[in-house]
Amino acid sequence: MSGRLAVVGAAGRMGRRLVALAAEHGLSVAAQIDADGAPALDAALAARVDVVVDFSVKAQAPATAEFCRAFGLPLVMGTTGLGADEHGALDAAAEAAPVVWAPNFSVGVNALIDLVERAARMLGQRFDVEVVEAHHRHKVDAPSGTARALAEAAAAGRGWDLDAVARYGREGIVGARPGDELGISSVRGGSVVGEHQVLYLGEGESIALEHRALDRDIFVRGALRAAAWAAAPGRAAGRYTMGEVLRTG
Ligand code: NAD
Repeated sequence: MSGRLAVVGAAGRMGRRLVALAAEHGLSVAAQIDADGAPALDAALAARVDVVVDFSVKAQAPATAEFCRAFGLPLVMGTTGLGADEHGALDAAAEAAPVVWAPNFSVGVNALIDLVERAARMLGQRFDVEVVEAHHRHKVDAPSGTARALAEAAAAGRGWDLDAVARYGREGIVGARPGDELGISSVRGGSVVGEHQVLYLGEGESIALEHRALDRDIFVRGALRAAAWAAAPGRAAGRYTMGEVLRTG
């Protein structure tokens, strides 16, 4: 085992899988921290932890980040919905140790984001770009954060500002499609874990880049890969994206 891991939110859906799959990534679980009775974060010190992974709740994120800052411990933050205060705490921790935060830790999605930007650049202005995402009926927000990240990558490949070109759904007499438009459509229903498709529609040819999430372990495996990467000897302090983890890991 090459790293001793503390899991914050260890009793949650993600936390339980992090504990179960840690060994796959050469990590041993030294501390399990949760709101309901598990050892407090400070116990992680006694357990000689090398890296902290947090998939808990927004309210806990600043405390986890401050703990990592104070003790110079690498941090992988999976908790979502963070605001400026929580990101400020992550920035502070990143002055002392490597910090990886991603809204989606799937290795496949992060590779797709990279490919989408490159394809948009290579294919050029004569290909129209559309992003289509599908999720289960319980999802309350649209489009998904991942669809937005894919659209941002495509826009970056084109040299566009996404907010200036994004077109969310279409209805009625919408007129001919302008070239400098990036369509984003959301489908909701059933138990779909998450599907994202980026379409490049040219004259006489089209390309589709697609990711399908089959279960939530993809996020767990990505976060554990990031934890092993962050805990590697000599890794410099700083804030990192999952894309940077994949490109350099
Ligand atoms: P969950 O509700 O099943 O688990 C959260 C756990 O955190 C619970 O066990 C809860 O008791 C615990 N908790 C609450 N307060 C705490 C505290 N102060 N300290 C420590 N633990 C505390 O939720 P989940 O589905 O496991 O998701 C957890 C987080 O991970 C959410 O923010 C979710 O959006 C996020 N998530 C991120 C990704 C990603 O790829 N970045 C993927 C899936 C989920």
